[in-house]
Amino acid sequence: MSFSLYIHIPWCHSKCPYCDFNSHAAAVWPEDEYVRALIAEMERRAAEPTWHGNPLRTIFFGGGTPSLFDPRSIGRILDSAQRRFGFEPDIEITLEGNPGTVDFSKLVGMRAAGVNRISFGAQSFNPVILKFLGRIHSADQTREAAREARRAGFERLNLDLIFAVPGQTGDDVRGDIAEAIALGPDHISAYNLTFEEGTAFFTEMKRGRIMPLPNDDQAAMYALVRDELPRRGYPMYEISNYAQSGHEARHNLTYWRGQSYLGIGAGAHSFARDGAGGRRWWNERMPARYSAAALAGGLAEAGAETVDAEIAAGEFVFLNLRLREGFDLSDFELRFGVSFDTHFGARTVSLFDAGLLLREDGRVRLSERGLELADSIFAEFV
Ligand code: SF4
Repeated sequence: MSFSLYIHIPWCHSKCPYCDFNSHAAAVWPEDEYVRALIAEMERRAAEPTWHGNPLRTIFFGGGTPSLFDPRSIGRILDSAQRRFGFEPDIEITLEGNPGTVDFSKLVGMRAAGVNRISFGAQSFNPVILKFLGRIHSADQTREAAREARRAGFERLNLDLIFAVPGQTGDDVRGDIAEAIALGPDHISAYNLTFEEGTAFFTEMKRGRIMPLPNDDQAAMYALVRDELPRRGYPMYEISNYAQSGHEARHNLTYWRGQSYLGIGAGAHSFARDGAGGRRWWNERMPARYSAAALAGGLAEAGAETVDAEIAAGEFVFLNLRLREGFDLSDFELRFGVSFDTHFGARTVSLFDAGLLLREDGRVRLSERGLELADSIFAEFV
């Protein structure tokens, strides 16, 4: 069975104050060594029965800022992935980029290397908000990057936006959406800004120097986004994701549908499904430790856990509930050998009674109100 490959590139020019990803600010980075480490890890994994003989359905270069890498490095990684695993004919290969780190020739190089979908962290088109978010790029650089990506042959383009930034208004959000759509992406991700522990914004919030928007304002902005994007041709298919019909991100659907994926690189997570459950593991987070381990023996695992059927059932529900279409009750029963109602029983009755979960045509999904309370609903299934 085909699977998805995630490749983590852990460096950025600077660390954004809201970012809790495994990303490290650097002016230079050991690109050749890291590419060799990724290839060593792929070679080792390709020999395992879980992955051996199964072609890749999607590849996603995430970070960090993968667009910092030379297209030749991306090409080396993709050549190795193709040799080790094989590609399905319609493979989706996405690369995340910072608009401030690309130009036409780099984009042509990425396209020639095999990347067929590009995702830019636009975040906003408002210079004040971009500055507040600590972004290194300008709105003009996003416009330029999107235009050059098209000219370089990218037909699939995602733009990331962030909303609920302190000081932002509904009109600002509407303006960002209009600016993004004017660039003709086929996919838009719109994330609610969060203040995660360990980030600079979290520290500033604790010190009382910045205040998140009130919850009601955040909910109103989320409702605005959920209304505005579908109205303009981008139906919502996941809590934070909107796409023209047929242009949903196939890579991320792998995660939300609880299917197997191999993550390589510093801090990358993997999940190998086995029956109803599976095994999950994660790599060394620090790039130097990762590279040393991968180059020594192909593996750089820092931890692992068995996902038993009980845990997997909860994960199946809350991951699939992220999707607008929810999940098919018969798929749940097929995978876990018990009906959803029998398994979760009383736990879900109040969620249906409160109108937060909906049951229609043999499927279960979140209602509009459920979308706003998604995190607390998901907690019921953990
Ligand atoms: S560019 Fe992206 S990954 Fe890098 S620090 Fe900023 S938000 Fe994090």
